Formats: sequence, structure tokens, C-alpha cells
Amino acid sequence: MEKQVQDLTLEEKKQVAKDVILGEDGQPLSKKALKKLEKEREKEQKRIEREARETEEKAKREASEVDYSEGRYGVLPLNRSTSRENRTYTDIKDISAAKDGQKVLVRARVYTSRLQGNKMCFFSLRQQYNTIQALVVVDKDTISKPMVKWCGSIGLESIVMVEGTVQKSPEVIKSATVQDAEIHVSNVYVVSPVKKHLPFLVEDADRSEEQIRESEENAKEGDSKFVRVLLDTRLDNRVLDLRTPTNQAIFDIQSGICDAFREHLLANSFNEIHTPKMTGASSEGGANVFKISYFKGAGYLSQSPQLYKQMLIAADRERVFEVGPVFRAEESNTYRHMTEFTGLDLEMAFYEHYHEVVEFLENLFLHIFKTLKEKYSSQIALIRNMYSSEDFVLPVGSERVRFHFKEAVQLLREAGYRKQLTPGQEPPKDEEFRYCEDPEFEDFSTPEERVLGAIVREKYNTDFYVIDKYPSSARPFYTMPDPEDPRYSNSYDFFMKGQEIMSGAQRIHDPELLTERMKSLGIAPDAGLQAYIDSFALGCPPHAGGGIGLERVLMFFLNLPNIRLASAFPRDPKRLLP
Ligand code: ATP
Repeated sequence: MEKQVQDLTLEEKKQVAKDVILGEDGQPLSKKALKKLEKEREKEQKRIEREARETEEKAKREASEVDYSEGRYGVLPLNRSTSRENRTYTDIKDISAAKDGQKVLVRARVYTSRLQGNKMCFFSLRQQYNTIQALVVVDKDTISKPMVKWCGSIGLESIVMVEGTVQKSPEVIKSATVQDAEIHVSNVYVVSPVKKHLPFLVEDADRSEEQIRESEENAKEGDSKFVRVLLDTRLDNRVLDLRTPTNQAIFDIQSGICDAFREHLLANSFNEIHTPKMTGASSEGGANVFKISYFKGAGYLSQSPQLYKQMLIAADRERVFEVGPVFRAEESNTYRHMTEFTGLDLEMAFYEHYHEVVEFLENLFLHIFKTLKEKYSSQIALIRNMYSSEDFVLPVGSERVRFHFKEAVQLLREAGYRKQLTPGQEPPKDEEFRYCEDPEFEDFSTPEERVLGAIVREKYNTDFYVIDKYPSSARPFYTMPDPEDPRYSNSYDFFMKGQEIMSGAQRIHDPELLTERMKSLGIAPDAGLQAYIDSFALGCPPHAGGGIGLERVLMFFLNLPNIRLASAFPRDPKRLLP
């Protein structure tokens, strides 16, 4: 029974006085007010307990959700080839609505990803230039919210392995190359995560200048615009840049050019050769050669396989070709020069006239162009989204377009094109002669070549043609002079859209004539060249050939604005890395 205040001892009275709760007026609270306060306290206590209970239950629930998706997602251990399950993997390009309902296992990169609330994650998965939409959707048995959340946290460009079921899409999926189906994902594993900050998004690097400009023009204040990834940024981060669908297609075609080149040559009794890239003699003259230190001495990086191709002809290899690096120490920072490029070189013995070789070369190029058009039409179409180009026009049927150098000069003149004169300079009476007699003259200039390309396209409806009989002054010492007029030579250049892609000639295969020619050009009989000259003293069939720049062919065929875009890891006077 509760004691009345008057029954309390002194000590007890002191304690009660300490516990008395005072109201706002400083007086002890009434019994009623005390009761009310007590109730409020109880209520608060209950609320705290209820919240603690709920938090605990939520944690338990979440723990059980992790459990029900456990094993369906996560980062795979580093592949060290410990096991082999021989599972069947599907390529994105082979998926379509026809596979509706089928289970697939796909390894791809995360191109884009988007979490929708906490129940759905959309992926765009990419293999080279093929993309497909994949969805991870929460359900009560297999896919938990934590799994979906984790999927949304996978870094872009990571490589994932996805298992799922193909589902026919009710609508056209415009953002993917597979437009009639998507993957409903049951399992997602990261095979190789991205461990560093991406310098740019592959998606951004795959937009054309037109698209970017359009976004800039149409953007209202506060709108975000497309990002422009500049050439140097691309080349500094080339591995990432090469992943763009456009670049994947460009390098398919690069491989296709080499393939078609080899195919045609092997089918015509050519032998593939491998000549040294370090040498004691420079084949194209001293100015643009890279010197290397070679133990206690010095050497050069090969400027072309020229001398060795010819020596192999003297060694009875008859028809030879090589695909290999060519080094040029040219300080030319142009859109079409690199310091290392890939040469597609060939040399062949002929019976009567070097035009046998010119004809063979014309057919070789036509084979390459036709193969590209037939086998790589989808890649060409894809590249055009980024770099627009017109169809490459080839001569019809057996028609070939070939001009004597004089005729080419004449074509330029008829079109009213004149060499740029310095102030006060007299216009030359006969330009063709000026070309031959001018000691400064090296070749047509690039603008002249371009104008000529446009004239030829207009007159002959072709983007591919040959100019024959170049002035001797424009060609290297080993070029056979024209028998009728030594100011010219038995040499030729091949052109695509007015831009040179190949130089070639009949070569001098007589040691006396070669030595005489070297003397007249002031080339000292170099010890390094002796084995080359001697190989003709041992008897050699008449022969001709040419050197093609792989990246130039690729660049002009696709109308790429810069040769660096046609090389996986370009080298120029300012770039030696990566
Ligand atoms: P250009 O006059 O264009 O500088 P070139 O006359 O020096 O070329 P060649 O030595 O005849 O060229 O080489 C044969 C082919 O190699 C050329 O037709 C071209 O396709 C390619 N080529 C030459 N130099 C380069 C270079 N610096 N970068 C890329 N390709 C080149």
C-alpha cells in the first residue's frame, strides 16, 4: 500500500522532494498532470521499442533476401585456368527473336547501365559493334533487391558474364543492334572489373562531329551537350578508344585489306617474305632514315623492304610480297604521314614489259576494293555514321584508267590549273617540261594530286587510276629510266580519290647501269649497297613492283580525316606512346 506523505520518515520526505517534478509555473505538478506525463513517457518508450523491432525485422528480411539470390551474382575469382566446363557461349550477333525462350550464356562489356527504382536494372551489353539490351528484374524467388542494386553498381566497361533467357521484344529496341529481342537475366558475374576512372565514355567517343554540333546548336540553357573526345585524348587512351563500334569496324577492314592482298598474291604464285628491319644501308636515301645504335656501331631502321625484295628476285623467288613495318624519319606533321606505317610490298619478275606488272597491280587493287565492298558492307555502313563517305567508284568491267605523266599534266592544264608562281616568276612555257627540268621538282603537290583526282572522277567516273612514266628526277636511283626519253622513267603511282597509295617501278637489274645512275645522282658507292648491286652481277630477271601504305588505303577508302585513325597505335614525330 502506498504511504501517505505524513507517514513518511524525514529521509523519505527529502527523497520525494528531490523527485518532485515542477510545472512551468515552478510549482510541483498536480496528480493529474503527473499521470498525463507518465502516459506520454510510456507512449514514447513503446515507440522506441517498436522502431527497434522494425529495424531488426528489416535487417533480418534483407539478410534473407541476400540469401535467396546468393550464388546468382558476384565477382568471379581471377581466371587462372583451373577448370574447364566446356559451356556453350552465345555471341550477341547471333541473338534474335528467333531464339525467343532459349537460355543463353553471354560474355560482354557493360556499355551502359541504368537502375530503375530498386527493382530493375537495364544493361546495354556490347561485343565489338554488336549490342543487346539485358534486364535484371526483382522477383520473389530468384532475383532480390540487393542483387539488382549490385547490378547497377557494376562499373561501365567491366566484362560480365550473363546468363538469361532470350525474350522477343514487343517494340523495336532502337538503342541496340539486336532490335527484336532482349535478355532477361537470371545470373550476372563480373569477369573483369574496371579498376580505374574512365577518361571518357566509349559511347561519347562514338559520336560523329555532326551529332555533337547538332546537340550544341539545339541545347537550351542548362541542357547537357554531347562530349567531344579530341584526337589526342583518344590516342592517349587508345585501348578504350579502339573499343568504339566505329573503330572495331575500321580495324576489321584493315585486317580485310591485308587478307585480300595476301589472298590475291598467294593465288598468283607469290611467296610471302620477311626481310630485316635493321639494316646497314638506307634504301631510300639518307635524309629520312632513323639511325639506331648497333652494339659499337650504327645502323638504320628499314625505310622499305626495297633492296631485299629485289635481292630475293635475284635469288629466284620470282614473285614475293611482304606485310611489314616501314620507318620514315620525316618531320612531316600532316594528316597522311606517320613515322612508322605498314607496308604492303611486292616485287615480281616479268617477261617482256613492266606493264605486265602494272596490270597485275591494277587487278590486285580491284580485287581488294571489290572484296571490301562485298564482305564488309555492314562495317562500311557503320563507319559512315561517324565519318561520312560516298561509295568508292571503280572502273567498269575490264576498263582501266591509266595516264602518262604528260597526260596528267595536260588534264590539269585543260582544267585551268596552274602551278602557284612566286611573285615575279615567269609562267613556264611548257609545264610538263618544267616538271622534268626543275631540279627542285619532286612530284605533283598534294593539291595538284587532289585536283587531278576530281578531274579524273568527273571525266572517267573512277576513284581509282594510275599515272605512269614519272619524271626520273622524282624517283629513287634504282628506277629504270624510260628508254625513249630518259627525263622520264618506267615508274608509276596508284591513286585513290586523288591521293597516292602506291609507288612502284621497273627496277634497274643491271649492275653497270645501276652504278652509272648512282654516280649521276651523286650517290656515293656505299659499302652497304654493294651486296645489292652485286646481286645483279649474278644475273637477275627484269622485274618491277611497288610499295603500298596500308593505312593510306584504309583512310582513303573510308574517307577518314586523319591517317592516325587508321593505325591502332600511330607513330608520328610527336608520338611514340602508347
Ligand atoms: P608521299 O609522297 O605521300 O610522302 P612517298 O612518295 O614518300 O609518299 P613511297 O616512299 O613511294 O611514298 O612509299 C610508298 C607508299 O607508302 C606511299 O604511296 C604511301 O601509301 C605510303 N607512305 C609513304 N610514306 C608514308 C608515311 N610517312 N606515312 C604513311 N604512309 C606512307
